[in-house]
Amino acid sequence: MKKRVVVIGAGLCGSLVATLLRNDFEVTLVEQSKKQKPLFDDVDCPTGDLNTSINRGEGLGGTTNYWHNALIELDDNDLVKAGIEPKGMRPYYDKAWSFFLNASDLAECNKAWEANKASVEHGGATVAHMVLPQTRHNLWKLANQKYPGDQIVVVYGHAEKITDGAVEVKDGKRTLRIEADYVIASAGGLATPVLLARSLGQETGFVPGYHDHPMAYVAKIKLKPESRLKQVSCTTLLSAEVRAGLTYETAGLKTAVYLRPAADMRLGSITGPARYILSDLRNDPFSPKKIMMLLGNLEAVREAILFKTRLGFRGTYFSLLILGEQTPLQTRGIQMKGAGKPLLNWEVTPAELRSYEQSVDKFLAEFADDILESKIVPHGTWAFRNAAHHSGTANQFVEHTTDTTPAFFAVKGIPNAYVIDGSILRAAGIANSGLTLVALGYKLAEHLRALA
Ligand SMILES: Cc1cc2nc3c(=O)[nH]c(=O)nc-3n(C[C@H](O)[C@H](O)[C@H](O)COP(=O)(O)OP(=O)(O)OC[C@H]3O[C@@H](n4cnc5c(N)ncnc54)[C@H](O)[C@@H]3O)c2cc1C
Repeated sequence: MKKRVVVIGAGLCGSLVATLLRNDFEVTLVEQSKKQKPLFDDVDCPTGDLNTSINRGEGLGGTTNYWHNALIELDDNDLVKAGIEPKGMRPYYDKAWSFFLNASDLAECNKAWEANKASVEHGGATVAHMVLPQTRHNLWKLANQKYPGDQIVVVYGHAEKITDGAVEVKDGKRTLRIEADYVIASAGGLATPVLLARSLGQETGFVPGYHDHPMAYVAKIKLKPESRLKQVSCTTLLSAEVRAGLTYETAGLKTAVYLRPAADMRLGSITGPARYILSDLRNDPFSPKKIMMLLGNLEAVREAILFKTRLGFRGTYFSLLILGEQTPLQTRGIQMKGAGKPLLNWEVTPAELRSYEQSVDKFLAEFADDILESKIVPHGTWAFRNAAHHSGTANQFVEHTTDTTPAFFAVKGIPNAYVIDGSILRAAGIANSGLTLVALGYKLAEHLRALA
């Protein structure tokens, strides 16, 4: 008889790992919702609008029902900070890329990366190489296409606790107990730490270590018509789009500067509540409040269209959108509230803000010859938004190894329980975490297959 694996959460990591293990184990996947919908109400968050914009999703595919499919690697320094040995990670990154792109498409993206580096990497900036495949994928569907095989039993319900040898799942008023030889927590960077804290009796403790790469619009610039920044900001290929973020490091933290097309130099479209309005409307398109906001800021709508249609990348005006690195802190994370909703704080600290400001100054100085005019949102008024890469919150529940041995993923105090999702990442620089999580998913599946 095959051993039993229970995977909790059918998002990016849960979908991949469940399909990778399906032929070697009897796999049960626990997902809290039958419907694919934004997940708004599992945490409270006084720091910004975490629960009013799509920030995470439920249903088969989890948050990948809404994600942009933007793929980017952590650099070697980030990997070391995350407790991952860079050389050993290479084959797993290769697998992760080929999960999304075929070899010739990938080669074309890498060519664009080389060209971008040659064009702008001469001074302080390095290029953050972001690839957006033209086809967006829900990970549950993609993983099942790539790795068909034995049946995965899907159980709908909310996993409440992992105990030694079982998972307790609440389905309405019923509580099911699903026996398991191995349990994999993939409930996402906010839900997994809550599940682990409850499983370990830490109902009212503080779970530190949360980090993201919060983002803010910080300036508008007018570029010279021939500026190289236009080409590197968006290269459209048949299979994907390649975007270069100009990345600077100040006081040990990275800031990536991305250029977004703008209509003119007015700051109204990038300040105030409507600055992300088109992406906000995706989750509730009929919200009167949001439609009013939209009508009140037609400049923001125009710029969103210039960006979505790519037309604006040929223009002259651009907004600067920054992503700032955060590192795990003892004071940033999730306050458990017993049976109540946990409370997340993801604040940008004054030291982080200073670092981001100095990096933006470095960008403006380095590319002064390309920039005809700039208008900066005053320091101290940059309005950050959570970028939904909820990371680092399994920090206290796993060993801090220096490579991805089984102990990297194993939950201390719960035998045969492992974590693979955003919470396992102790560092991510300014990278979107999905590609790295897929790579780590392959690694964990390999460890587990050795136990089948
Ligand atoms: C709008 C948006 C765009 C994004 N775009 C990108 C992008 O382009 N590139 C990128 O790399 N990342 C992107 N992200 C971040 C992305 O969410 C993560 O990379 C990825 O989804 C994280 O995967 P995960 O497995 O950690 O969690 P998720 O995909 O969030 O999956 C968690 C799953 O667990 C389920 N669950 C939670 N709690 C329980 C429980 N107690 N019991 C049972 N089930 C439970 C949830 O319902 C969900 O299905 C984006 C996020 C958002 C919100």
